[in-house]
Amino acid sequence: MAKIQMTTPLVEMDGDEMTRVIWKMLKDKLILPFVDLKTEYYDLGLEKRNETDDRITVESAEAAKKYGVAVKCATITPNAARVEEYNLKEMWKSPNGTIRAILDGTVFRAPILVKGITPYLPTWTKPICIARHAYGDVYKNTEMTVEKGSKAELCVTDKDGNEKRQTIFDFEKSGGIIQGIHNLESSIASFARACFNYALDQKLDLWFATKDTISKTYDHTFKDIFAEIFENEYKEKFEQAGITYFYTLIDDAVARVIRSSGGYIWACKNYDGDVMSDMIATAFGSLAMMTSVLVSPDGNFEYEAAHGTVQRHFYKYLKGEETSTNSVATIFAWSGALRKRGELDGIGELVDFAAKLEKATIDTIESGIMTGDLYLLSSLPEKQKVNTEEFLDAVHDRLAEIV
Ligand code: NAP
Ligand code: MG
Repeated sequence: MAKIQMTTPLVEMDGDEMTRVIWKMLKDKLILPFVDLKTEYYDLGLEKRNETDDRITVESAEAAKKYGVAVKCATITPNAARVEEYNLKEMWKSPNGTIRAILDGTVFRAPILVKGITPYLPTWTKPICIARHAYGDVYKNTEMTVEKGSKAELCVTDKDGNEKRQTIFDFEKSGGIIQGIHNLESSIASFARACFNYALDQKLDLWFATKDTISKTYDHTFKDIFAEIFENEYKEKFEQAGITYFYTLIDDAVARVIRSSGGYIWACKNYDGDVMSDMIATAFGSLAMMTSVLVSPDGNFEYEAAHGTVQRHFYKYLKGEETSTNSVATIFAWSGALRKRGELDGIGELVDFAAKLEKATIDTIESGIMTGDLYLLSSLPEKQKVNTEEFLDAVHDRLAEIV
């Protein structure tokens, strides 16, 4: 059988621990037998990041900008324990943070649904994809405690030195706390464009919500920027694609989400997205079944699993013990990237292959073959727990039948 040919390379970002082990097995079993794979390889494993003073991460992000499509393995974000464990020169920054800053991207997370794993809300029959604005608000705040008898003011000095003041609160009767937060018009606009582009890409409706009735300047600016960009740049494209943009108040949004059957993108401000993405992931079943894609406003895509490097399983693996680590989200990162590469380069076979890879994966689980995490959740009457490698072998066998 002739392998599927590629024209442009994928940017391949390798990673750490158990997901690095899975990465190689997955390529060997599910990609290389079928695709004449072209990648530009960047090793983002912690050792290599340390060796290159983290330049490798920046280079990989620049390559993602150049080629437009990347697939990334989970990576360690170092903390004090990791600095010691890996004898690091520095506590290097989160690679995801570095890549996101260079691509100016927005992260979209969506669950993978399979029969036998019912969401806590059984009415959610289609995925809910969360887009989180990953800049500003409470994540870049300034906070103070205030003593009784003090007065807190908001003061802005313009470029000519003129001050504009407004009282926040007069703490006459009690001490208290205050917080200063900000956001940028440019960042909100990038977020809006990434959301509109991804909605078009996925042919899904887009929802957005803030607390604009209470926050008449701050949250209202988010609402206005989204509305203006939609009106000027996306309205017609949405009509042509048969999808809608829907804005509502955040309280109304959460009520509607609960009542919905899923099947849309929910754009969230930073804090809402942080909280809601954990709720959505849990409600749909398992973090190991969450995909994640970073989309930049100028149309670059980086695909990955939402979970981490599964450190606990890796230490078992190092001791030669059997592991049953779920590779589904990593498989979908590959299928997402291959599909996008195929679409951009007009290679129908590659787009088809991505769909078959996803089908073989889902069919394997729905036939009762699954890793331990899903085994605990699945309501299928006949199910079998397999190890990390056996699961990939089972997907391979199904894939080989349909490719
Ligand atoms: P984690 O890797 O997501 O794993 C936490 C736990 O969730 C695991 O111990 C396991 O539970 C379960 N789990 C997660 N993914 C699974 C999978 N594919 N199959 C089966 N079970 C899975 O989080 P962590 O252990 O807290 O973090 C490890 C490292 O990952 C950290 O160094 C962190 O910096 C990094 N991280 C990277 C990314 C990224 O690159 N995007 C994201 C998050 C974290 P059981 O142990 O109960 O089986
Ligand atoms: Mg969170």
